[in-house]
This record gives sequence, C-alpha cells and structure tokens, in this order.
Amino acid sequence: MARLTVLTWPDEALRIVAKPVDYFDQGLAQLVDDLFETMYAEKGVGLAATQVGVDRRLLVVDCGQDEREPYALINPELESYEGELIWPEGCLSIPGVRADVTRHAHIVVRYKDHSGLDHKLSANGLLAVCLQHEIDHLDGKMYFDRLGMLERRSVLNAYRDYLDTKDDEKDDDV
Ligand code: ZN
Repeated sequence: MARLTVLTWPDEALRIVAKPVDYFDQGLAQLVDDLFETMYAEKGVGLAATQVGVDRRLLVVDCGQDEREPYALINPELESYEGELIWPEGCLSIPGVRADVTRHAHIVVRYKDHSGLDHKLSANGLLAVCLQHEIDHLDGKMYFDRLGMLERRSVLNAYRDYLDTKDDEKDDDV
C-alpha cells in the first residue's frame, strides 16, 4: 500500500474528464487499496482517482459513523435519483473551506467492483452526497461549480485566505 498525493485546486488535472477503467487486474486492486489508504490518512469520506492524478473512472467512499463502510466504485453511473437535499460540503482538493451544495437526496448508482462484476448501490444522506461529489470529480467538476456566482467567489476567496494563513504558519515554523 502507498499513500498518494492529493492534488489541490487550481491543479489542472482536477478538470480532466476521466476515462473508463478497462483493465480489471492486480494494478487496479492496488490502486483501490492506495486510494483507501490515502483517504483514511487525509481523514476524508471520499476520494476520486482524478484527485491523485489518475485519469480513470474510479472512486472510494466511506461514510460509516461508528464502523467503517468502505465502497470502491469503478465506472460508476447514476442510474436514478429523487428529491433534493442541501449539505455543507468540503473537499480534500480545496481544504479549509465548506459550502452548502444542493444534491439529489436519494440515488441509485451502477458500478463495477475491482474484479469487473456489476453492482448497484442505493444511497441517502451523506453517502448520496459523497457519491455525487466524487462522480463530479471524475467529470472534472468541483463542488463550487454547482454554486451561484457570488457563492462560488466567496468559496474561492476563503480558500485563498486559508492558503495565505497556511503560508504564514509555515514561515513561523522555519
Ligand atoms: Zn472533492
């Protein structure tokens, strides 16, 4: 297993529309393991391959509260959706900020596992939000793309402030 580097905004690789996975081999199983390791190390609830610079449609999530509930989804596709919910989303690729995003409240996602077998996952609440957020990453979308212009600007300004503060702290350490 290996911990991977999570790309942060405005890295251009976050805008890539990822290609479908077409090999279900040992390399893929390894990548799934590495994505889980990285997500847990970063204390995230989801991670898409595009966030670590891998141009393939796969993602991992774990929205378990008391126990782990890991899912690895390869070539995920939204099959159906219903309702609406607003959730304060954060993102490992734009740390230090959050914003309320409107998503589908209930979704069914079709996907393959690392052996190439077909599955369906039906999700509500945080898991539904997380899956939609990660599928967006595979399409080169950030959550702030779903906000109005003013909210989007305020997220990006807050992010810039966060990065400035981080730099200051680093300087103090040296
Ligand atoms: Zn994200």
